[in-house]
Amino acid sequence: MRVSSFSRGLKLSTRKEATEGKPVEPVPPPRQVVIPVNQHFGAPNKAIVAVGDAVKRGQRIAEGAAPGPMTVPVHASISGTVKKIEPRALSNNTDGMCIIIEAEENAGTETDADFMPPITDPYVLGRDEALARIRDAGITGMGGAGFPAHIKLNPPSEKPVNLIIADGAECEPYLTTDEAVMNEKPDLLLAGLTIIMYITGVKRAIIGMEDNKAPLIPMIEREIRLNAYAASGKLDISAGLCRTRYPQGGEKMLIKALAKREVPSGGLPMDAGCIVQNVGTLVAIAEAFLLGKPLIDRDLTVSGGACKTPKNIRAPIGTIITELPKEFMNIDYDHLRKVIFGGPMMGNAVPGAQIPIQKNTSGIILMTGAETLTDAEGVCIRCARCIRNCSCRLSPVIMNNALEAGDLDEAVRAGLADCVECGSCSYVCPARIKLVQRFRVGKQRLRAARAMSQQQAKAREKV
Ligand code: SF4
Ligand code: SF4
Repeated sequence: MRVSSFSRGLKLSTRKEATEGKPVEPVPPPRQVVIPVNQHFGAPNKAIVAVGDAVKRGQRIAEGAAPGPMTVPVHASISGTVKKIEPRALSNNTDGMCIIIEAEENAGTETDADFMPPITDPYVLGRDEALARIRDAGITGMGGAGFPAHIKLNPPSEKPVNLIIADGAECEPYLTTDEAVMNEKPDLLLAGLTIIMYITGVKRAIIGMEDNKAPLIPMIEREIRLNAYAASGKLDISAGLCRTRYPQGGEKMLIKALAKREVPSGGLPMDAGCIVQNVGTLVAIAEAFLLGKPLIDRDLTVSGGACKTPKNIRAPIGTIITELPKEFMNIDYDHLRKVIFGGPMMGNAVPGAQIPIQKNTSGIILMTGAETLTDAEGVCIRCARCIRNCSCRLSPVIMNNALEAGDLDEAVRAGLADCVECGSCSYVCPARIKLVQRFRVGKQRLRAARAMSQQQAKAREKV
């Protein structure tokens, strides 16, 4: 099979050995969960339960504070009693409102759960009805930003899409959950993929993965043949291999490698006629239809040198790994120096591991001092390594200088809006300059500035 790729990028040590090939282990039922009310990119939610309420696993407990499409509801991940509703520290390093549920007996099982009625034949639903099921199941992209899936699957008519890419690349070091999901649930992956092909009317799809996962290809191809809807001759689904190269799992890089298309500057995958959906999200979509199950469990990798029991786990959303029994999750606190939610390149360093698992938590990496770069920031030596290694062909050093000078316009001219926050520039910088951290803050400022100018334009229209 041909192996595709994009230009530039990094050859990283994958550090996946500790969990590669391991099955996904369900965590022992947690005593309590801390469920953030807002876990998606979009308009805010509000709690719709009160302290003292009894809730069932799968019950809706938070939803949009105001009507609008950019919200997805949140559901109880265990059955129990709402003990508190209060702000807690979250993986994005903010305090967010959370619903704390204390477990009842049998919590964490499907016993007596409050799921939606299953839809065993999703291929007869109307488009709006199918999108509503995805929204009602609270499904957001599980690969990173938490974008609502029903919005991604409903591109505007002026942006026709003719290719769906299932993203199983998982290019971040340490993380192995997507591989485990493809290995253990290929039938649900195919079901989720064919459901979104039915919804969008797209006839062609590629299941993309890095070539270190090549042994999965025969099984995936077998599942493609077994899927009745795909086998009806209506769809063209194939598996595609990409070179193991960071950040191959980024949407723009996958599209470049597998479809040979460029996402235009400032654009989205739909501007290149594509939708990219993480393989875990596709499994969640299949479960929402076939089982009526909302997104209440999360598969993730817990690894790193300070984790004595590295493994792929399935945990109810809101689980805190430090509260799991030591025989299941053994953390070496004496050597723990850094905790990262997500992968080490694009994830967030957080103050400790006592933070709840969210819908977009792909991994928790517990690092020792030996795994952590502690060098202080130095001075730029103008080596241009950051430019040579930027997967998006931007000018990180110029963007950084512009942001340091407070010149947002110049940072945008140098490519800030197109930065995918992959962290390659920071990784190669010999001066250890915190480039990607500054770009994240810079992009937040840019979004705020653009929202402000839109509001001002609207206000002027009203006058
Ligand atoms: S500038 Fe952005 S896209 Fe380029 S390497 Fe740095 S973080 Fe990645
Ligand atoms: S890699 Fe670091 S030191 Fe080299 S030009 Fe870029 S910012 Fe400067």
